Order: sequence, then structure tokens, then C-alpha cells
Amino acid sequence: MTPVRTRIAPSPTGLDLHIGNAYTALINYVVAKKHKGQFIIRIEDTDRTRLIEGSEQRIVESLTWLGIPHDEGPDIGGPYAPYRQSERLGMYKKYAEKLVENGHAYYCFCSSDRLEAMRKKQEEGHQPPMYDGLCKRIPHEEAIKRIRAGEKYVMRLNVPDTGTTTFHDLIRGDISFENKLIDDQVILKSDGYPTYHLGVVVDDHEMKISHVIRGEEWISSTPKHILLYQFFGWDVPVYAHLSVLRNPDKSKLSKRKNPVWVGEYRKRGFLKDAMLNYLALMAWSHPSGKELFSVKEMMEVFDLSQIQTTAPVFDQEKLRWMNGEYLRKIQNSEFRIQIYEFFKRKYPIEMIEKVLPLLTERMKTLAEFESLAGFFFERPKEYERPLKVTPLKVGIEALTESEWNHDAMEKAIRDASDKEGVQAKDVFMELRVAITGKTVGPPLLESLEILGKTETLERISNW
Ligand code: GLU
Repeated sequence: MTPVRTRIAPSPTGLDLHIGNAYTALINYVVAKKHKGQFIIRIEDTDRTRLIEGSEQRIVESLTWLGIPHDEGPDIGGPYAPYRQSERLGMYKKYAEKLVENGHAYYCFCSSDRLEAMRKKQEEGHQPPMYDGLCKRIPHEEAIKRIRAGEKYVMRLNVPDTGTTTFHDLIRGDISFENKLIDDQVILKSDGYPTYHLGVVVDDHEMKISHVIRGEEWISSTPKHILLYQFFGWDVPVYAHLSVLRNPDKSKLSKRKNPVWVGEYRKRGFLKDAMLNYLALMAWSHPSGKELFSVKEMMEVFDLSQIQTTAPVFDQEKLRWMNGEYLRKIQNSEFRIQIYEFFKRKYPIEMIEKVLPLLTERMKTLAEFESLAGFFFERPKEYERPLKVTPLKVGIEALTESEWNHDAMEKAIRDASDKEGVQAKDVFMELRVAITGKTVGPPLLESLEILGKTETLERISNW
């Protein structure tokens, strides 16, 4: 059996690793590692106009943070280096010329004005936008002369006019396209850069990629790739196209409805293990039906052909729930360190340790530690609502007299409330607002035990 080698081939055109690419990366990684193969990152940076500075670094960083390590890539090299297409330019041209020699590609000199006019006419006639093949008829010698004379050109794929191109998709079965509907795609641009189609085929072949697992938006490009494999006489890799992630309303995952960058989730205090677990559940389920499992457990039972084709929904609320479950799973010692590091060591670790037991049932992300427990470290700067003086005074008196433990404080507050004819629950609430600034939060008396008598009394007397 040929070794399993999978890859993701992101274009560095976004701010960070897109959640959809993280999903694709996870599946590629699991398939590779399940078969003791390699997982590769290749950067497809041939569209020079859309490059974003720092994008590649952030993509690699986010994959590393997620815990999806790669065996070869632009940062660590490997046997098929370089792993950036912009550093492999000579090769694409050589291959494109080979195609011209064999009649599978041709030089095209059409101006952008002509192409634009053609597109417009096709649009008006409700025809699919396709190149009309004009330059296909230029004799080879004449084309060479024009190139030598300095004329600008691109290279186009010479797609047969008849027949069909079919490929097998491991998830979707056989998919066929009529050749007459496949465009004579530009494969090499006038600046010498390959288009995606040539680049992806040449590199997947050169890098010995065995499985191409990518988003379904690439299905319509695949027949062009199959033709290229056929023209070169190369073996076609296994194809699997994953469904694109959706918002809960089924629209395409977009910045407006959900953060789409992995770094955003990291910043918001999501745990990588929860993210991976949640992504694993997009279009796949564990055969035992369990929802919480590690990547290692996934690997043991994963089968690419069992991926569903229905649109998977990426629901932030569900992810938050899962993150909460993971927070509760991590041992206390590790948990406090995660919080300590997440807030850049701003809060003393001993205090984090003390307050954590009061929060674990409520916290869903690391970031929420601050909104739930910030009052342990800092007096409230503002109150959610104005304080009610009468019950608060009852509370202050009761606490001033009380011993500093849960039961004694509770008794003191209840006795004082009875005596003054106010509701004990109002007293508790006013104390909560005066001490934390908020109407909801961790259990009050346990929090006061941790805050201590002096600090508590100073806070409630100075509101
Ligand atoms: N460069 C493409 C992208 O940005 C890669 C598609 C593929 O995996 O073939 O996603």
C-alpha cells in the first residue's frame, strides 16, 4: 500500500486559521495518523493580490496551538521542500510547457478587453462564462514567434470538447462532468505564476499526496484536476470533499454570525481539546454515540467514508457547553495554571486556586473567570443597579457582629432580618451587589469566607 500522506493547502489570504480550515486540518491529520502517515502544510500563495502579511505564521501558530502537528511544512521543511508555491515557480512553468508540447495546453494572447466583452455577451445570452477557444487555433510556430517578440500570454488547459470526466469521491461516490462545460482554464498566468489548478495538481503529485481531503467548494474544480492528472499520465489521489460548515441558520459560516478565526476562540478562552472534539462532530459521530472524546479516541474508530454530506452546523452555544464540560474535566492544578496563563499572570495563583471551586459549575470559557471572579481581586468600580439602603444596613450590622464562617454568617443575617422585619433574601441580594457589583455570581457566603471579614466590611461600608 502506498504511504498515506495528507495535506492542507491554505492560501495566506486571511487573518488567521479559518475554522473551516481547522476542521479540514483535523480530518486530514486524523486520516494520516490513523495510517501512520504524514500530514503536510503547503502554502498556496500564488494569488499575489490577496496576500495578507503575517497570515501564514498565524495559520501555522493556530494549528500548533490546536495540537495538530505537521510533519512537513514551510516552517520546518521536509523532503519535498519548498512548501510555499511562490518558491516553486520554475517547476510549474516546466510542467505547463510539457502540456503544450503534447497538445494538452495552448498559449493564449487574448487581451483583458476581449475577455471582458466575451464574458458580458455570454452573461447577456445566459450562457456559462467560458473561454471561446480563439487562441487554440493559433499554429504553434506562430505562437512561439509572438512570444519571442515579447507579446504577453497565458497558458490554457486544452479541455476536450466531447466526453465526460469522472472522479470517485470517498464521501460522495462518483461525480461526472461533461467536458463541453469545463472551461479552458488558465493554468499559468502572464506573471509566470501558476493558477491554483496547476499548482495544486503539480504539488500534490510532487509531494506524493495520497488523499486530497478538502472542502466541497472545490468539487467543481476537481474535473480540471483530473484532466491534468490524465494529461501528465499521473496516478489520481483519493478524493474526499467535506461539507462546508454552516451557521445555525444554515447560512455559510460568516464573520457576522460567528467568529471564524481560530485565534478568536483562543482569545475568548476556549480550550483546544474542546474545539477539536467539537469539530470532530461536524458531519461525523462516534460509533458508540458518545459526545466527548479525544483526538486519539477519534483516530481509533474514524472512517472517512462515514462522513455525512448534510451541512454541519457550527453552533457556538454547543461549543460553549462542550468547553464547560472540558473545563470541569481538567484537574484543578492544571485548571488554575490555565487561568493564570490565560490572564497573563495578572491574578495571584493562590487566590485563583481558592476561588475556582466556586466557579467550575458556571464557567464555560477561561475568559469568563474575570466576569465571574473579578471581584475577588478588585473592588467593583460600578454597580449593576442602585443599592437598597435598608436591607444593606441590616446586612452590614449582622456581618459586623458575626464570626467569619458560612453557618455563623447565615444565622446572623437571618436573625437580623427577622428582627428588623426585612426579607433575608433581600439582605443577601444587597450584600451581593455591594460586594461584587452584580446581581448574579458565585455562592455569596463562600465568597465572603474567601474575601475575609476586613475586606468585606470595608467594601460594604464604603459603597
Ligand atoms: N488553496 C486552496 C485553499 O485555499 C486549497 C484547496 C485544496 O485543498 O485543494 O483552500
